Amino acid sequence: MTIAGSDVVVVGGGHNGLVAAGLLAKRGARVTVLERRPNVGGAAVTEQPWGPDYRMSALSYVVSMLPPTVHRELQLERFGYKIHPQHGYFAAYRDGRFLQLPDDVQRRHEQISKFSTKDADAYDRWTAWLGGLAGTLAPLLATVPPKLGSKRPRDLIDQAMLAWRLRAADEQQVGDITRLFTMSIADLLSEYFESPHLQGLLSVSGIIGTWAGPRSAGTAYVMAHHQIGDIGDGQMSAWGFPEGGMGRVADALRAAAEHFGATVRTDATVARIDVRDGRATGVTLESGESIAAQVVIAATHPKITFLEHLDRRDLPHDFVECIERWKTRSGTVKVNLALDRLPDFRAKRGFDPEVHGGTIVLGETLDEIEGAFQDAVAGRCALTPFADVCIPSVFDRTLAPEGKHVMSMFTQWVPSGYASEPHTTELDAYADRVIERMEVIAPGFTDSILHRQVIGPHEMETTYGLLGGNIFHGELSANQMFHMRPAPGYADYRTPIAGLYQAGSATHGGGGVTGIPALNAVTEIVRDQRSGLLATLRGRRRS
Ligand SMILES: Cc1cc2nc3c(=O)[nH]c(=O)nc-3n(C[C@H](O)[C@H](O)[C@H](O)COP(=O)(O)OP(=O)(O)OC[C@H]3O[C@@H](n4cnc5c(N)ncnc54)[C@H](O)[C@@H]3O)c2cc1C
Repeated sequence: MTIAGSDVVVVGGGHNGLVAAGLLAKRGARVTVLERRPNVGGAAVTEQPWGPDYRMSALSYVVSMLPPTVHRELQLERFGYKIHPQHGYFAAYRDGRFLQLPDDVQRRHEQISKFSTKDADAYDRWTAWLGGLAGTLAPLLATVPPKLGSKRPRDLIDQAMLAWRLRAADEQQVGDITRLFTMSIADLLSEYFESPHLQGLLSVSGIIGTWAGPRSAGTAYVMAHHQIGDIGDGQMSAWGFPEGGMGRVADALRAAAEHFGATVRTDATVARIDVRDGRATGVTLESGESIAAQVVIAATHPKITFLEHLDRRDLPHDFVECIERWKTRSGTVKVNLALDRLPDFRAKRGFDPEVHGGTIVLGETLDEIEGAFQDAVAGRCALTPFADVCIPSVFDRTLAPEGKHVMSMFTQWVPSGYASEPHTTELDAYADRVIERMEVIAPGFTDSILHRQVIGPHEMETTYGLLGGNIFHGELSANQMFHMRPAPGYADYRTPIAGLYQAGSATHGGGGVTGIPALNAVTEIVRDQRSGLLATLRGRRRS
């Protein structure tokens, strides 16, 4: 299938924009990607904040969810995509104990038994339950959400097809999925585990990037979102560090797109999407340059696309209301460090690749993590921030000079309102507290810091286009999932404007570095081309 002869403009050169460009260029389209920043990647970017010696994944830091179809079709390995697998969780505690979750079943059982033998026995039951659910849920990520509630014949067929796809799930599984979407990760974990430490450690993937603490309803799903392994086209890889940092993922996607013929332009800020008679006709850049296009793909935050790049009068009023009330908070702060040595943990001395090359969690118990969220809800930065810490240079020696390291600290929470102001002083004090936490469990850590970079919600919004500071372009709450992402009736990657599609993280399959929104959007664009919808519309306009 080709759509040769058509011109496609992609607004936003984040990883989703690049995936869409590569896949469409490969199918014969003439594609131009327009990226506002000097580099592609969006939130998947490697920067050098401290000069040429260090490379840092400025925002996102680990990858797992890029589907095999994207790898295969875009031949990413050929363009420099290489992953170093990440080890499991490690948490060291103030009382001198530690909890580690190695892949090895026997050793993991021993580790958990230090805190609760009952929990150690329950762990396999938990992973089996999760694996079963992920198996049911994962193919839904690759499913284009139908327009639930629509009575149009084509939409009714899509709804019936979804029901047919779900027929494999029995009553118990449907019940489990319902529980997953509605429960808090805290309540779910308490059904399996009694140890506050294990509960705290396992709650982490339920709160990453969310404006919700572990006791908030819906966080159970966020945890499952991070566990999904196979969306129906093969097993996605486990979490890992891309060699060269996350920017290397974007660079490989860019190289692939260009290889297939796409043009990628940076420092090219789109000012508006041009619309005539309800149909996208191209874009106009801030420079005044206009580019005509048959298809426009918006891979930007939905508030940018629909409230800044379009005239609201071209959109249905109820759709505009949905985008205006789109929730896009998270209270996340990224603290990036250059270190002159690895941290030496008081609870477990010396270098251990499974510890230093895994996820180090700063967060003792579920209650403590919930407390950090409640601080932010009350309008102050967390007194005891939670952090998900990685040291990718343990495996990837391209990131730092010999003997030195880079550390990524993904931390939460600061107040959601921080996106509107820099709050530099408060963020610095907050980052100090994150570092103090590490100092308690790894004495000498503070002295090992050579450089530091603190990226808060305001910088995420103004520099990277992550409005509100939400890392996924919009919260992964049940009210913003599947047929609601980003608005009911428009979760199929189409928009109220003919010829304008959306493929960013605020569409189904996002967020995260998944490429799934772009993959699904391309499927729908090709489907429209096939059905001759665009040709018909063009014909109608001419007559
Ligand atoms: C701190 C942090 C940590 C994260 N950690 C992880 C992680 O470890 N693993 C993971 O899978 N996910 C992680 N995520 C989430 C993930 O990075 C994002 O969901 C994903 O990268 C978004 O990709 P995207 O292509 O949809 O959008 P973006 O990456 O946001 O790309 C959108 C692009 O549009 C551009 N743009 C905006 N306005 C215009 C305009 N007017 N004209 C032209 N271009 C424009 C922007 O500059 C940007 O490049 C993290 C995110 C953050 C912020």
